[in-house]
Amino acid sequence: MNIILMGLPGAGKGTQAEQIKANYPVPHISTGDMFRAAIKNETPLGLEAKSYMDKGELVPDSVTIGLVEERLNQEDAKGGFLLDGFPRTVEQAVALDKILAKTNRKIEKVINIDVETSILLPRLTGRRICKSCGTTYHLVFNPTKVEGVCDNCQGELYQRSDDNEETVANRLEVNIKQTAPLLDFYNRKENVVENINGDQDIKVVFSEIKKVLDTLK
Ligand SMILES: [Zn+2]
Repeated sequence: MNIILMGLPGAGKGTQAEQIKANYPVPHISTGDMFRAAIKNETPLGLEAKSYMDKGELVPDSVTIGLVEERLNQEDAKGGFLLDGFPRTVEQAVALDKILAKTNRKIEKVINIDVETSILLPRLTGRRICKSCGTTYHLVFNPTKVEGVCDNCQGELYQRSDDNEETVANRLEVNIKQTAPLLDFYNRKENVVENINGDQDIKVVFSEIKKVLDTLK
């Protein structure tokens, strides 16, 4: 079961990745974890990635793709994997196909958790933090008993500047622009992309993902 999980920020990708990991014997390979592991183990590519990160530069594609190849060839990924955060571009997707072809594998499904921007905005802008004790709340998912007042310490709540509507809307727009060509790329392959409506109860979303994954084996 070789799958890619996609979804915009706030679509619930992290939650669904946890569910998939708990129900199927495949490693969850996220780019962040992969980088951290390679750096910690001081592999040649890990050290190379670190040298760019230390300078505050972007890690070049060749390094990222090399890391993905190393990871996908590890024993636990041979029976399948759940990729999360990679590929981000069509170039990376083409490179991924080449890597997999070397071992007669291919991407079987791209699970795209689909949620409209108008629904994502309140999800992503609802976070509020207590000025005094730092407790985090959410206007929709975890509200305080009294609006604007911390349940623990009666402190005043504030919104982080990167949670404001304009910043979040920009971030979503950038993400949508990046994702569109990638979805086009996979849509050109037959029966690969599965769009799952992410504006449903978490359990319902997972049951729909499960239906797709159970067709694989
Ligand atoms: Zn507080």
